Amino acid sequence: MTNTWLNDASTDGVQNTTLVLIKPVGLSHWPTIKKMILNTAPISRTRLVKVTESLIKEHYDEHREQGWFAQLTNYFVGRYVLAVEISADPLKIRKIIGTTKPTDPTNTDTIRGLINSLTPEDTTMTEYTKGIDNLIHGADSEEAAAREIKLWFDSPMPQNPQYLCLTNHNLEMEGAVSPFVGIQFDLENSNVLASHVTDLLEAMPWNQHWKKAGNAIPIVVVGGLTPVSIIGLQYLTTFSGRKLKFGWMNPESGEMQVIDLQTVKNRATRHRM
Ligand code: ADP
Repeated sequence: MTNTWLNDASTDGVQNTTLVLIKPVGLSHWPTIKKMILNTAPISRTRLVKVTESLIKEHYDEHREQGWFAQLTNYFVGRYVLAVEISADPLKIRKIIGTTKPTDPTNTDTIRGLINSLTPEDTTMTEYTKGIDNLIHGADSEEAAAREIKLWFDSPMPQNPQYLCLTNHNLEMEGAVSPFVGIQFDLENSNVLASHVTDLLEAMPWNQHWKKAGNAIPIVVVGGLTPVSIIGLQYLTTFSGRKLKFGWMNPESGEMQVIDLQTVKNRATRHRM
């Protein structure tokens, strides 16, 4: 997988724009989904959004009268989705997404269908088999795309977090965000892993804020999957141009401790002399 990805393909002559949302289970399969999207059209923007009740209800407004509306919307509240803007006709992207039910036998060469065949463990999830988390949503018309792009990309920037937890645990602390909870990373291919982690970090809404000198950047909380933490720290240190403070998350107790690197540095400096 290439590590140059956004805006990589030419958008010359492309008139239309559409929106897809990568649903919570889909986030684990982002490298595969991204490849399938990029085989069809260029991606122009991404934003990782923590879903609120009002956002998801507005998004699925047309289904408000359905008996399954509450089940559908409740599933998303408090979880993360990746909003992806694509330079393509909405219907062209709907074609590669496939039909609503991932288990539909005609859903073979589509995003919903292909991933169904790749991930037997996900297919036992109730939300998955019912079609609620069918990995991806795609706007179904130009009007819907315009409305949804505004909804997901223009929603207010959440407060700058004090702690950014890069583990699979939900850090229950005031001012903490844990966008990686529930995401499964494939450890078999380090390039795919690196691009999976950095794509998600790049999509975080505070990036522009962190780039400006003087703005506070969060304490990065590591633990769990070591390579994910290393990739995340490398990305954020380089991106923000600053030395990060970080904490360690104890996976058993779920508690976080800030690591005092100054003491470590002092010791190393003494030993060099
Ligand atoms: P699509 O996403 O393929 O355009 P719809 O617009 O019909 O499908 O439905 C929107 C979303 O609502 C679906 O992607 C799926 O997540 C959910 N959904 C559809 N039908 C059901 C159902 N019977 N029970 C629960 N959720 C459903």
